[in-house]
Amino acid sequence: MSFKFNRGCWVESNEVAWNLLALKGGETPGNGSKENSLKGSRGFLAMEGRIALARFLMDKFGHRLLAEKVIQKLVSRLNRGISISYETMKELGVSGACARCDGEAAEGSCCSTGLENKIETPLLLINLLLGAKIQGARLREGSCFFLSSHGCTLKARHMLCIDYLCPAVQEQLGMESLVQMQRATEEEIRSLFLLEEEINARISQWLKSEWQDSP
Ligand code: SF4
Ligand code: SF4
Repeated sequence: MSFKFNRGCWVESNEVAWNLLALKGGETPGNGSKENSLKGSRGFLAMEGRIALARFLMDKFGHRLLAEKVIQKLVSRLNRGISISYETMKELGVSGACARCDGEAAEGSCCSTGLENKIETPLLLINLLLGAKIQGARLREGSCFFLSSHGCTLKARHMLCIDYLCPAVQEQLGMESLVQMQRATEEEIRSLFLLEEEINARISQWLKSEWQDSP
């Protein structure tokens, strides 16, 4: 079990446990293939491996997860929260400012290469549960793995991605609109956190019981 720094506090991460449990017994797809041999520098699966693991977990547990009332409720809350965030970003001019920044600023948008390291398997699995298509390769050199020319290709983004506004956009918005923007993202952030907790608990338990039952 490891810990990662996020929003000023240390939080437990299930990433390593999931990797170990799911990889045990060579059950994940492409075992011995390029995907599973692609380890990150910290021993974590690299992005291609995380995506393969998320797809494997979706095939294995997706129906079971979506059959649970609490998961259904949180998925629909998250979908609603994402829509509210995007509508407010559009209304307040944040989407337009970010699109211009990405197209015109010499250094491009703030979705820089390396930020994809924040996106771990549970969040990728949530994206699959929401019906998002996850591309298998980086689309733009120097940018986050998930950035396309039309913006982020993930449906459920990392909390830092939802929360971050650069100083220029903060200044453009002013205090009142900033507060409006923060309020608008509350439902997305809260339901994402709760959904990840519920999914982590179930997947860890299901994988552990399979592991214990295996000969
Ligand atoms: S938040 Fe700021 S730096 Fe990031 S894409 Fe938008 S305008 Fe550019
Ligand atoms: S918003 Fe999307 S593209 Fe941008 S850093 Fe976050 S995950 Fe990457």
